Amino acid sequence: MDLKALIRDIPDFPKPGILFRDITTLLSDPAGLKYSIDTLAAKVVDLQPQYIVGMESRGFIFGAALAYKLGIGFIPVRKPGKLPADVHCVEYALEYGTDKLEIHKDAVAPDGRILIVDDLIATGGTAAATAKLLQEIGANLVGCAFVIELDALNGRSLLPDVPIISLVHY
Ligand code: 5GP
Repeated sequence: MDLKALIRDIPDFPKPGILFRDITTLLSDPAGLKYSIDTLAAKVVDLQPQYIVGMESRGFIFGAALAYKLGIGFIPVRKPGKLPADVHCVEYALEYGTDKLEIHKDAVAPDGRILIVDDLIATGGTAAATAKLLQEIGANLVGCAFVIELDALNGRSLLPDVPIISLVHY
């Protein structure tokens, strides 16, 4: 299936000069959504993840659907102040300034096999910060999966040495 045909390009969003890859048009297409989840599942099943960790907020959409498909658990990584129990927090660099992500300290049993899932990897900052959170809670990262990878930004170079799967490359 041609997933690119279902991904909408929005110039100058959220800032001038950025070409935003809009996945809402993929999500609303029944065949496209099903194909995305089924294909991701087929590509990651051999990694034998026990949990998917998805990042707020588009990582929740694909991550939760993929967890359901694989019959495994889903763990949210959220922006600061949203998770109610004790958290680990990581600060990471953005183009201008910094941002933070949090995970519940008790989200995963030690050595739990984790797959990180997000809609898109650009610079890799978000996924690398999530990998750091997982390291802090003693989890075992077995791979990362994305619907979209922006190859020119080489985000995968920031990630640990685990399999990295993307369905669509720009
Ligand atoms: P990174 O941290 O790899 O630079 O950026 C990836 C994060 O920003 C992901 O959580 C992703 O949802 C969001 N993001 C950045 N650019 C885009 C884009 O063009 N389209 C979409 N859908 N998300 C983007």
